[in-house]
Parts: sequence; C-alpha cells; structure tokens
Amino acid sequence: MAAQIISGTRIAKEIRAEVATGVAELRERSGVTPGLAVVLVGDDPASATYVRNKGRACEEAGIFSETFNLPASTTQGEVLDLVKRLNGDSRFHGLLVQIPLPDQIDEDTVLLAIDPAKDVDGLHPFNVGRLVEGSPTFLPCTPAGIQQMLLRSGYDPEGAHVVVCGRSNIVGKPVAMLMVQKAAGANATVTMCHTRTKDLASVTRLADILIVAAGRPNTITADMVKDGAVVVDVGMNRIDDPSRERGFRLVGDVDFQAVSDKAAAITPVPGGVGPMTIAMLLRNTLLAAERAAAGAG
Ligand code: NAP
Repeated sequence: MAAQIISGTRIAKEIRAEVATGVAELRERSGVTPGLAVVLVGDDPASATYVRNKGRACEEAGIFSETFNLPASTTQGEVLDLVKRLNGDSRFHGLLVQIPLPDQIDEDTVLLAIDPAKDVDGLHPFNVGRLVEGSPTFLPCTPAGIQQMLLRSGYDPEGAHVVVCGRSNIVGKPVAMLMVQKAAGANATVTMCHTRTKDLASVTRLADILIVAAGRPNTITADMVKDGAVVVDVGMNRIDDPSRERGFRLVGDVDFQAVSDKAAAITPVPGGVGPMTIAMLLRNTLLAAERAAAGAG
C-alpha cells in the first residue's frame, strides 16, 4: 500500500497560524511585539532566498523582522560588532546569523557571540547543553520541526526505535538527542548512523522511524527500509534539471517512489521538513518574546 504522505506544508501552516494567535495575544497582554533580527553576510543566492522566506513568514505571523545585509568582504570583527549591538537591541527577541558565512569568518565564534536568550536557532552551545540535559531551551528548528511532524501525524516516537542517518550539529545530533529525552513526544530508543557505519542497511532496516539527514540523493533505497516504517527525509539536494526554468529541482536523500511503496508514512521533498524549519523559527521567536515579556513584567 502506498505510504501516507506527511505534509510539512500543511502542518507548518497550522503552526504558523498558532504562532500568529500567540503573537496577537502577547501584544494585547503586554504590548510586546516579537522581533527577529537576521544577519546575512555575502550574496549566496540560496541563503538570500531562505532569509527572504523567513522575513515573509514573520510578517504573516505579525512578527517584526529586519535583515541586516553585510557585504561578502565583511570582517569577523564587523560581524561580531553587529551581533553585540543586536544582542542589546530590545526590539529584537530573536537573533540569527545565516550560515554559511564567508571563509574569513569563523562560524563557531559568531555563534558563541549570540546572546543565548536570543538564540532562536537553538544552536548556541548553552542551548545545545540544555537540550542534552532535557532542560527548557530553544530547540533547534529542524529537529523540533521533525518532532512536530511526527506527533501531529499520529506517530509518537515513544518506545519506537528511531534510527538517525547523519550526525551533523544542526540536524543529526540534535534530533537524536531530542528523540531520546525522557519526555512527552520523545522516549525513543535511538541509533545514529554516519559514513563509518558498517552495513548501513542492516541498521536502517531496524527503524520504526527513520530520519535521514545525509545530504546525498538516494542514500536510502527501498531495501534499506522495514515494511511499515515512518520515513522522514530531511535532505535538500539540488539536481540539475534543464526542464525547469531555474535549471534545477530539489530532491531529498530517500528514493521517494520506491520507499513510498514500503513505508507506512513518508515526508516529501519539497513540502516536507523544509517548511517546518521556518515555522519552528517563528515559534522560537514568539517564545523568546514571551520570556522577555515575563522577565520584564
Ligand atoms: P552534513 O553536515 O553534510 O552532514 C551529513 C551527515 O550525513 C554526516 O554526518 C555524514 O556522515 C552523514 N552521511 C552522509 N552520507 C552518508 C551515507 N551514505 N551513509 C551514512 N551517513 C551518511 O549535512 P546536514 O547539515 O546535516 O544536512 C543534511 C541534509 O539536510 C542536507 O541535504 C541539507 O540540505 C538538509 N537540511 C535540510 C533542512 C530543512 O530545513 N529541510 C535543514 C538543514 C539541513 P559523516 O559525519 O561520517 O561525514
């Protein structure tokens, strides 16, 4: 039977509407309008598109947002100065620096400079540590989006064997850490895989829920998936496609057609995890503003 398609577009819309309601309530209650500052360095077209989409989504949800565009030649010191200034700017409750950054700027140093209370990407080591501990924090947006997709389509990870393919700091590691927490919406048994995993297929076939963030098309083929598994495809890979006006199309890391015949449910690319990431960014920005309003009140 063909798998249920878990629509990130639909679930993200639902979350964005909830955020818009939360924003209106916060404004009425405390006069505070949540604000998000985005720092964009250089002219990478994909980053510019992400940032534009984030700005548009903020506007729709009633969140004030401003993008700070810096040229590709900007020094690390100049970025750090701007981050410092934005840390102290009370109009902004959330602050993110779009990655990748040009080579002369060290991403870790910039990330460390962001006030953890404004770190709505949830990537500052302070917030990563809080996630590991299971303490309240800003959850990183993509992992949090994956968790919401699962929960809102009826696939609670509790007790499930979750296999994560990929161990990056922005997806693989934090989603594994989120799933293993002793908490509602988690409580999974988690296995992590990477390029040094021996016989990857023998591990992925154990998964009740398979989360794939490898960054390579067709990393997961149908023979690597158990019948009835739930498959979350995080991958976003550009494939040349001269038939498209822009010359490429987006594919995930999973052989979607073949795996759809085997899985109980699967997330598509595009329209899967991608829209969830922005929705969770809005949610974190609202949360940051709520915390600031509570602290000030
Ligand atoms: P990354 O930093 O390149 O990490 C990829 C991970 O996958 C690495 O840990 C790598 O193992 C592992 N891997 C690669 N090929 C593998 C294979 N054949 N078998 C087993 N493991 C393999 O990538 P990322 O930043 O996590 O992103 C992953 C994908 O998700 C990308 O396509 C990215 O564009 C996409 N993404 C999407 C969103 C969204 O919002 N939808 C957000 C973030 C990322 P090693 O550590 O051994 O090298």
